[in-house]
Amino acid sequence: MFEVFNYEDIICARGSREMPWKPSFQMNVYYYLIDGLLIDSGPYSLAEEAIEFFNTHKIEQVFLSHIHEDHAGMACWLQEKLQVPIYLHEGSLEEAGQEPELAKYRLDIWGRRQAFKAEPISDAIKTGSYVFDVINSPGHYPYHIVLHEKNKAWLFSGDLLNNLRPKSIMFDENMNETILSIRKILDLDFTTVFCTHTGIRKNAKELFLSKLNYLLGLQQSIQALRNSGFSDTEIAEQLFPGPDPIGNLSGGEFSPYYLVSTL
Ligand SMILES: [Zn+2]
Repeated sequence: MFEVFNYEDIICARGSREMPWKPSFQMNVYYYLIDGLLIDSGPYSLAEEAIEFFNTHKIEQVFLSHIHEDHAGMACWLQEKLQVPIYLHEGSLEEAGQEPELAKYRLDIWGRRQAFKAEPISDAIKTGSYVFDVINSPGHYPYHIVLHEKNKAWLFSGDLLNNLRPKSIMFDENMNETILSIRKILDLDFTTVFCTHTGIRKNAKELFLSKLNYLLGLQQSIQALRNSGFSDTEIAEQLFPGPDPIGNLSGGEFSPYYLVSTL
């Protein structure tokens, strides 16, 4: 199901994909279109619905919070069919030019992320009515960026907020960096956050604070256990016991271990 709706001046669309682990659940993907600027392109596995949305709205430029396939999966299509610039962090430009070899579970859920040619993002993106400041926010991915519209107090957060209490993360995530990025974001003035997976949320700062406090609490527990001589593997087993369906299905690409080892 693909739903299109408006929020103030923003045209929003929402699609979803089923996560194959048990218990399975639907993960939403939000598309935000403001003044001709599309924020994140969604995955290739939602191409059919997304193309109808793209073809029936005016898109002049595209911003990608980062290069993961659920955000950048339609960048190639948008570039070829609509011939619009795709803005991405400078550090990901080379990677964008090649199609990655993704594990099967990722291809099943999100589909391919075809190669495309991105433009380096500067420190702000402008549209007719808005200015979006570009804020580096590594952690979920080294070259992750969020957009801040000061006058509207909007924050387009990519994957920075998403899961408030992660228990398992991907091998290339770094939770210490996420802590620093959240601290940096909390210095900005904003009230509404636009998350790619959890949608539009009003009590934005409280949500970031709640995630920050969860991670800081976890970090304290981890450090105490390290001081008692436990290894990160042992700490991960102690803090997150029980079956790990996501870890199993992803062939270990997701694991509580990465959460522990990067805090
Ligand atoms: Zn991501």
